[in-house]
Amino acid sequence: MSEGGNQIALLPGDGIGPEIAAAAKRVLEALGDFEISEHLIGGASIDEHGTALTDEVLEACRQSDAVLLCAVGGPKWDTTDPDKPRPEQGLLGLRKGLGLFANLRPVRPSEALLEASPLRHERIEGTDLLVVRELTGGIYFGDSGRDGDRAHDDCAYTVEEIERIARVGFEAAGERGGKLTSVDKANVLETSRLWRETVTRLAPEYGEIALDHLLVDNAAMQLVSRPTDFDVIVTENLFGDILSDEAAMLTGSLGMLPSASLGESGPGLYEPVHGSAPDIAGTGRANPLATLLSVAMMLKYGFGMHEEAKRLEKAVDAALAQGLRTPDLTGGADIREVGTEEMTDAVLQSL
Ligand code: NAD
Repeated sequence: MSEGGNQIALLPGDGIGPEIAAAAKRVLEALGDFEISEHLIGGASIDEHGTALTDEVLEACRQSDAVLLCAVGGPKWDTTDPDKPRPEQGLLGLRKGLGLFANLRPVRPSEALLEASPLRHERIEGTDLLVVRELTGGIYFGDSGRDGDRAHDDCAYTVEEIERIARVGFEAAGERGGKLTSVDKANVLETSRLWRETVTRLAPEYGEIALDHLLVDNAAMQLVSRPTDFDVIVTENLFGDILSDEAAMLTGSLGMLPSASLGESGPGLYEPVHGSAPDIAGTGRANPLATLLSVAMMLKYGFGMHEEAKRLEKAVDAALAQGLRTPDLTGGADIREVGTEEMTDAVLQSL
């Protein structure tokens, strides 16, 4: 979570990517003095260079202060041939190349969209939580293989890996509501016992943070039964993958969800959770709000511009409160359907 310069590498990608990238650019230009350079990634890069991420683009991202990625992929590049390049390789290459070990997904349903949640209004109202997921360790990166009719996937964590993600959790809690919930399966897994031991050992360094521990099965239940009680949740890769999707869907609006991936140093990667929506690409109907909320995360975590980040989040809420909805959004009375540009205009006006 660094404060730095003002260079942004913008990767529009495929499908609706370029349309929502244009919205992000307009908002960034209104918020500050940023140097924005645009680069190809995903299918667009495959078409031009035969690979989803060139060394030059990775280097340009490394040299920037923050990376904003819109979306990659589409039917044009779908293939089952393992020798053919695939758009997602661009994403994986970026995560690896930038050493991004922490994935942050905030869940803060907009007041105007409460009806879109699969949960009852009164249960979801006031929810404002952040899932911090470890992204480069654990079972997804352990030894795996098959031996006849047996298969295995090993889960391993080192103290160092746990410490660095736990610190991201503690620090995020410090900037938010001061509460950290560490999620593990310490009653069964040795890696989870090391996890709990390590997080507990760090706690005195963050005396102002209230730390508690939840077993992952219990956490999955509590997330839907009392979502408003959570502030920051920190957890390992596999549990985080599942819990962050569960938490994200509390809002019921895919087009509203931002994310950030951070490394030890160097630029963070900010991107909407949704994909490239090829079914509506080029129609001007894409919802730009998840990308604009990703810009807000970039302002906060990448540039330390907390005030501007808040303003942008409030402007998004205000546009929705006026009843404006892109076609993917439902909920609320007196609503009016708008496209990408009109929604962006409304956000800019509120800013
Ligand atoms: P998707 O998120 O692209 O779309 C799912 C549905 O949600 C579609 O009906 C789409 O129109 C709608 N939608 C998504 N984002 C929207 C937005 N901002 N505004 C309005 N409507 C929106 O998921 P998918 O259809 O499973 O995948 C399409 C392509 O995107 C695939 O090639 C997939 O691999 C890729 N993908 C990329 C990312 C990424 O870049 N991070 C993530 C997920 C999927």
